[in-house]
Parts: sequence; structure tokens; C-alpha cells
Amino acid sequence: MASTTNAFEMAQAQFDHVAEMLQLDPQVCEMLRWPMREYHFRIPVRMDDGSIRVFQGFRVQHNDARGPNKGGIRFHPAETVDTVRALATWMTWKCAVADIPLGGGKGGVVVDPATLSDSEKERLVRGYIQVIWKNIGPRNDVPAPDVGTTPQMMGWMMDEYSKLSGKYTPGVITGKPVGGGGSLGRTEATGYGVIFTVREALKHLKIDASKCKAAIQGFGNVAQYAAIGFIEKLKGTVVCVSYWDREDRVSYTVSKEDGIDPHFLHSITDQYGSINKDKAREAGYVIEPGDAWISKDVDVLIPAALEGQINGETVHKISPKVKLIAEGANGPTTPEADEVIKSRGIFVVPDFLCNAGGVTVSYFEGVQNDMNFYWTKEEVLEKLDTKMTEAFKSVLDMSLERKAYMRDAAYMVAIAKVVKAMQLRGWV
Ligand code: GLU
Repeated sequence: MASTTNAFEMAQAQFDHVAEMLQLDPQVCEMLRWPMREYHFRIPVRMDDGSIRVFQGFRVQHNDARGPNKGGIRFHPAETVDTVRALATWMTWKCAVADIPLGGGKGGVVVDPATLSDSEKERLVRGYIQVIWKNIGPRNDVPAPDVGTTPQMMGWMMDEYSKLSGKYTPGVITGKPVGGGGSLGRTEATGYGVIFTVREALKHLKIDASKCKAAIQGFGNVAQYAAIGFIEKLKGTVVCVSYWDREDRVSYTVSKEDGIDPHFLHSITDQYGSINKDKAREAGYVIEPGDAWISKDVDVLIPAALEGQINGETVHKISPKVKLIAEGANGPTTPEADEVIKSRGIFVVPDFLCNAGGVTVSYFEGVQNDMNFYWTKEEVLEKLDTKMTEAFKSVLDMSLERKAYMRDAAYMVAIAKVVKAMQLRGWV
């Protein structure tokens, strides 16, 4: 398969591969290879010093056959329309595999949020909504957080939309703060969801989770709760996490052979995700180059940062001990690396299955907003566990039945559901 690291080419290559296996109708492929709608726009923002800065924004709606488009908004300096297209496409498959009645969308702004003050951030997110509000809504497209955006920003977006539309509309955005229309358990949802699929995968592989070691890439929202879940729910050991150091402009792996303490590391992490290296060293942690996480002698690898991290170059560093890769990130593995992983027989929980917990609780949040009745955290996490376990089982069953690689099986489950909805609506 192609050695691309362009995220959208990756998403299309993965789809094409399975479309060929399924001998999908060419018209159906025409619909699914590309997003249905895209918005590209400029957002002028008054900065604190009085000047105006203009930001590039995107919202891509990939497919809404199964329900309103759904997916986060990413703020990242290297954001491109192709990244947003890929992420929107993966959202369509994610919602289908998780069996929630939503389609796929994604948004992005080319910006490093760490360079903005809180009031500049507020004006930027309100500006984003001012441009796009007529094209989103609880029944057509529902944004949420992603890399670089926070619950507070979602609260501001919901407020702006409500003001512009003249109606309190909590269901237009999910991932809002608790007390401001948000759902309990949303913060933990993606990371814990990863761990529910890891638990099911280890059960299938007949491996005792409590004897397992994991290496995690990243230390953002997904990685933090994946680490906590692996330790507290599965009783396993996490030997490292990694992060992007804003000052040094490089990433580091932070490890401890007998197990990291994610709560301690969180307490020495600043709001942009940089870990205080001195404090970590004092507490006995070893600071290594950024990609050290991938060559650790562990049973489980959890890439939970950005796309394209396991690629033609890095895949060969994976230890022969690794039995499971659980993709907490979106698109962490390139098609080229996938071939190597497949040939080595490593079991993979593919991204849009593994990290579907976030959007699943987003869906629960929308349901609670519609009912205007809120569940306890226990109720939310129990419903999440049921959904993730069922989603994992549907993909595993498909993989066993068709003797297919787990990623291909996940595509088969997802494509079948989206195609069925398109047929029922008379689109194809
Ligand atoms: N950004 C998250 C994802 O990639 C969550 C999307 C959502 O909650 O809508 O799955």
C-alpha cells in the first residue's frame, strides 16, 4: 500500500482497500471517498493589543446518511483541510461502528492555542460560530472538542449559537462543561473507552491484563485517562507516556520501569500539556527522546497523540514482545506500517473503534440535552462500557468470520451500516 502520511490519502487508501474486498458499487464509492460538504472560511479576531488577526477555519461534513454530522473542532498550527477531511471521514466510520445514529464531520482552525490569551480564544471560538452557525445545529452538524480545544471553548460556542439563533440550544455542541449542559463522564470517556476495548482484546487473546505492561504515546485527554484506566481498571502497569515540550520544541518520553503515576504526572503538567521535567526527574522518572515509547518492551502499545506516528520508519522499532496495539489517536498508523504490523501478527484495535468512547458520550450528552434530564457518572460510564464492548464484539466477530485484519473488519462493519442508510434514503 502507498507510503503516504497525508491523513486524507491514508483514509482513502484504507477505504479503497476494503471497498475492493467488498466489491462495492462504484457509485457508493463515489459518495464515500469524499466529504459531502466542506466550508473553508476566514475568521477575523480582535487581539488584546487592538490589532486584527485573521485565522483560517474549516468545517467538513463527510456523510450524514445515519444522522447529523458529528465530530470535534481541532486547533492546531499544522492543521490542513486534508487533515480535517480525514478526521471527518473517520468520524463517519466511528459513529457507525459505535452504532450511534450520527454521521461524520470535523472542524479545524490553523492556530496554536497556546499563543492566545483566554479572551482572544473566546473571541476566536465565537468568531468561528458566527461564520458557520447557519450550517450546523443539533439536527445537522454537532461539533465537539478535539486536540487544542476545551470544554470551556465548547461552552462559549454553545452560547454564541444560542444567541444567534435566539434559542437556548445546548444540543448544538457536545463536550460542554458539566453544569453548562455537559455530561458527567465526557472527560474520561475517550481514554476509558480505549481501556474497555483493551480489556476485551486481552480477554480474546487470553492474556492476563494485570500482568501486562503498556507504553502510551501522548499525555493529553485521551492518554491521561487511558493511563488511569489501564492502571486502575485493569491493574496493569504503564511504563511511559510522552508529550510535546513547548519550550524545547521537541517531544519527550517520560518513563518509570516499575510504573508511572498518571495523577502525579498530571499534577506537574501545565495547561498546554508540557510536563515539568525537573520535578519528574526528582521523582525518579527518566526523560528520553520523544519516540522512545515505541521501542519499549511492553505487551501493549497505545498511541494516543496525533496521526501518522507509526509509519514506515518507526514501525520497525516496535518490540517483538508487543501483542496488542490499541489506537487511542485518530489515524496513528500509516497504511505502509499497517502492512508490517499485519505480517507480524500483532492484534490491533483500530482507531475508530478504539477511540469511539468520546463520541459515544457526546451522543449521550446530546440525548440528555434533548431530554433536559441528566444521568449520574456511573450511569454514563456503564452505558459507555456496554456500547464499547458491543462495538468491539461486532468487529471481532466480523474479523473471525471473514478472516480479516481488525482494521479491515471495522471498515466492513461501518461501511455496511452507512451503505444501508444511504440505500434506505434512496441515495444510491
Ligand atoms: N474529537 C473526538 C473524536 O475524534 C470526539 C468527537 C465528538 O465527541 O463528537 O472522536
